[in-house]
Amino acid sequence: MKQSRLFYKTLKQDPKDEEAVNAKLLVRAGFIDKVAAGIYSYLPLGQRVLVKIENIIREEMDAIGGQEMLLPVLHPKEFWVQTGRWDSMPVLFKLKGANNKEFTLGPTHEEIITPLAKKIIFSYKDLPKYVYQIQTKFRNEARSKSGLLRGREFVMKDLYSFHKDEQGLDKYYERVARAYEKILARLSLGDISVRTFASGGSFSQYSHEYQTLCDAGEDEIYLCKQCNIAVNQELIKEQNVCPQCNNNQLEKKRAIEVGNIFKLKTKFSNACQLTYKAGDGHGKPVFMGCYGFGPSRVMGTLVEIFHDEKGIIWPAAVAPYKYHLLNLSKNDKVKLTADEIYRELSKKEEVLYNDRQDISPGEKLAEADLIGLPYRLVVSDKTHGQLEFKKRNENKTQLRNLKELF
Ligand code: ATP
Ligand code: MG
Repeated sequence: MKQSRLFYKTLKQDPKDEEAVNAKLLVRAGFIDKVAAGIYSYLPLGQRVLVKIENIIREEMDAIGGQEMLLPVLHPKEFWVQTGRWDSMPVLFKLKGANNKEFTLGPTHEEIITPLAKKIIFSYKDLPKYVYQIQTKFRNEARSKSGLLRGREFVMKDLYSFHKDEQGLDKYYERVARAYEKILARLSLGDISVRTFASGGSFSQYSHEYQTLCDAGEDEIYLCKQCNIAVNQELIKEQNVCPQCNNNQLEKKRAIEVGNIFKLKTKFSNACQLTYKAGDGHGKPVFMGCYGFGPSRVMGTLVEIFHDEKGIIWPAAVAPYKYHLLNLSKNDKVKLTADEIYRELSKKEEVLYNDRQDISPGEKLAEADLIGLPYRLVVSDKTHGQLEFKKRNENKTQLRNLKELF
């Protein structure tokens, strides 16, 4: 992609209306634009990152048998009345349609998926089933000052599983846990993320959150360093030792909840009368699990963790492009060399090429650090047909030939 054509604008100063580091850097670097508190547009650079995060999640969901689908955003009121959450969930964005019919924008989808499953699951032969979607959710969050960490409109991956019995649910729950660990490792967050015990409300003893350690996080967790698991702040009141090794020396840490796994058991199947005919001919309630993960929150989390005073430092797996090619010369011959390198390299790799003639070499270098691609390649009057190669997270530079990049 030639930067002269890219739909973007970088800012030299932090935007005044942002408090969070992730939002300041992502706005400054031209990845997102703020529309209102908790509502952002994703520009082409930001959309590429988001899609890469989503694709990592998608691959790991497919690997555990998840089937991707897409449920509606607009939910008729009666679906939410049936489960009692029309009145009990304060974050619903409620609205009226034609003939004063009431709706909510979907903050989560148990209310839609359970009645749908009722049309598909009748007998034990129809179980188990696993379906997921990656979709924009809406929540009227009271406080929305953390950039992408807490949106009023945000992207969620939500997986739902349906089982004959609790054992089937328990087994799949652990498979999802393993998949989440793979996702976090691929996002470069594996070493700083911990499975965290959270109170599961009235219908199950525990749920688990995947918490990424980060001072900007809103959550407080209590970490057992021996087991690398944690207990959430709400739960610590009932459980103040490590649930695995009984160690009472837990360390208080701030963290960001990037995902969670939840045994719904029969809560929603009871509310929606989702039953199946067992082998003995009796009707039994279906056991359900739900599993959330936040691609847009992950994007904010990555920026909170991987940045320095100059800008973002994207992990290679989610960077919008792998190489940032800069032409720092005003010389026409050098420009032709840079154009040729761009043509060759972009046949095999994702390259962002700063071909703009209207900004100075100093500005191009500063902008490259701000945007934060993994590898910078400079062509200048001093490189003589070669490239100056530099990793974003290192200071040393090397002269290389194009062939040496592969
Ligand atoms: P939180 O406690 O942070 O509000 P939650 O417990 O409400 O999260 P879920 O409803 O289970 O979370 O949502 C699943 C995932 O969706 C979360 O783990 C998180 O990654 C993401 N998520 C939830 N709310 C938001 C939000 N307002 N903005 C961005 N991502 C969110
Ligand atoms: Mg919430």
